[in-house]
Amino acid sequence: MTVARAARPVGAGDPARQLYERIGTFLFDQRLEPDPANFAFAWHLLHDPAGPLAKAVAALTDGGVRLTQRDIAALGCESPASARSAREKADGLVAQTQMQVEGFQDMVQAIRVETQGFGRDLEASADAIRRYGDSTEGALFDELTRVTATMLERVHSAETRLESATREASELRDKLEEARDNARRDPLTGLPNRRAFEEAFAAQADMGAGMCVAVCDVDHFKGVNDRFGHAVGDRVLKTIAEALVESCPAQLVARYGGEEFAILFAGADIEKARIVLDHARATVAAKRYRLRETDEPLGEITFSAGLTRVAGGESFGTSFGRADRLLYAAKKDGRNCVRAG
Ligand code: GH3
Ligand code: MG
Ligand code: MG
Repeated sequence: MTVARAARPVGAGDPARQLYERIGTFLFDQRLEPDPANFAFAWHLLHDPAGPLAKAVAALTDGGVRLTQRDIAALGCESPASARSAREKADGLVAQTQMQVEGFQDMVQAIRVETQGFGRDLEASADAIRRYGDSTEGALFDELTRVTATMLERVHSAETRLESATREASELRDKLEEARDNARRDPLTGLPNRRAFEEAFAAQADMGAGMCVAVCDVDHFKGVNDRFGHAVGDRVLKTIAEALVESCPAQLVARYGGEEFAILFAGADIEKARIVLDHARATVAAKRYRLRETDEPLGEITFSAGLTRVAGGESFGTSFGRADRLLYAAKKDGRNCVRAG
């Protein structure tokens, strides 16, 4: 089995070099691009060859089957850099929340001290009033005015501090909401990501509502990157994302991974869904893609898709797996087509 072979030490010497060589062997055997995401995946796999990821990969590759880019996405191995930046963001927000809670505690403490001060003032005034009991009314009035003015000042200052704390709390809540939204959005295309898609599927299933799911995979996309570079490939992905959203306005279009998009059709009518999806396919295929800088044509860009109706009570994995098999049938049938079932 390929994983075991790649996991075996490659001879005596520097362990770091051995790990590096095993990563290279693994990527080469699996015919995976040596890009940062795949490198990170291989590192996670091979630095702990007996770990849960290695076991999952061993189960998938048993019998000589090669890993696909989809398997890597499904195994959910984030690149350390992106995981780190998400973690740093979350840590920052947690620290801010903590600071704000501490700020609230300080403020409540300060208000308590002032209230006690106000109580003491009142007691002192009551004493004074008792003492002035037989003196002139003017002195009594002066004392009452002084106490009232102090009280108003303190209430006003407490109000100002509460107002600013409330504003900070609401800003923090907005930031947390934004972070929550970012965790469900693909930064390149702005589309909902795989996590958002799976949550939407679960919500639809919970309501007991019928649905169809489609998985679309850009045809020969590696060739676009190879001929025009990764940056152009990225722009093409953005254009396809926009075309899919325009063609499927009532559906949830998500970037599921790499060059794959998933679409959730509410309602169990698969023929209706197939018509919408095939129209989206034709729209993408009809576009004339050109290099922005030189106007050079990129050639035809198409996608293939698998579409399936989700049976009542069926799990996401089962229905998505069926859509995936239909997608591969569409690839085998010559690409640029939809297979439904
Ligand atoms: P097929 O028709 O069989 O799907 O062929 P393919 O070339 O599309 O499939 P393959 O899985 O061999 O290659 C997918 C390519 O998509 C390889 C990978 O570098 C590229 N890719 C994945 N994500 C991105 C991305 O975010 N940006 C760019 N530019 N390329 C990406
Ligand atoms: Mg693919
Ligand atoms: Mg592809």
